[in-house]
Amino acid sequence: MTNPFIDFQAQIEAVKQRHTAGEISQNERDNLIRRMKLKDDAWGDVWMLSPTGEWFRQAKGSKGWVRDYPLDLVELPDMPIDALDIHQVAKTIHHCTRCPLHETRTRAVPGEGPVEADLMLIGEGPGYHEDKQARPFVGNAGQFLEELLDSIGYKRRDVFITNVVKCRPPNNRDPQAEELAACSDYLTRQIELINPKVIVTLGRYSMYRFFPGESISKIHGQPQRVGDRLVVPMFHPAAALHQPRFRPLITEDFLKLPQFIAEAASMAEEPVDPVDPADAEQLSLF
Ligand code: SF4
Repeated sequence: MTNPFIDFQAQIEAVKQRHTAGEISQNERDNLIRRMKLKDDAWGDVWMLSPTGEWFRQAKGSKGWVRDYPLDLVELPDMPIDALDIHQVAKTIHHCTRCPLHETRTRAVPGEGPVEADLMLIGEGPGYHEDKQARPFVGNAGQFLEELLDSIGYKRRDVFITNVVKCRPPNNRDPQAEELAACSDYLTRQIELINPKVIVTLGRYSMYRFFPGESISKIHGQPQRVGDRLVVPMFHPAAALHQPRFRPLITEDFLKLPQFIAEAASMAEEPVDPVDPADAEQLSLF
């Protein structure tokens, strides 16, 4: 069976070759490529490939384009999750049956954003629209999140956004402990690969992953060092939609983020203390 994404790549390559052969100018080449679109018959999404080789997806029912990668182009090697790259993690999630949430999902939502992002946002789980579009934080909460990012000079495309569970809990109920446990390795690997300077947890369940038993009312907006990065718990943007009193709290917490990102960057540059051989010997005794 032919792979439409490979055929599409070949068509783009043919346009590039016409430019290389001097038949069309660079402008004509780029305009032609930008007009070429591929409809994914399985989901109704539309794809395009930029002249510089980046894939973008427009989910069925949405207007915006988001940088994404077609999973039809991803080979799944027989390897553990902690050896997979970011696209292989996404493909594995799309086929995952580790917990019962796979039975009720429309589409899994691995997350999206650049693998080199210095800011990672972790929510709770996909909702109704996310489940349909295979994208995190769309709908009203997503719109508010984009406003919050705007307020600190970031765009959605600058950050990696995901959730602690990658499939929608039915009727938007809270994720259950066994679902969180089953899905945990995917998030662990995404954090390893992206290696963000700052992680923002949005809502209680993502906060519990780093600070179990804490109260979000007490610690929201306060960065805590976890390894060589900062983790900042915040209320979920949806909280502000349900209860307006949360809006100023979330907005204020977000405005502190540029400072935390700068602090985390300088933290990462701090020289590691040389280990005294005597101490090293002591440690090895325990
Ligand atoms: S929620 Fe996570 S563990 Fe459960 S089926 Fe989806 S991807 Fe797999």
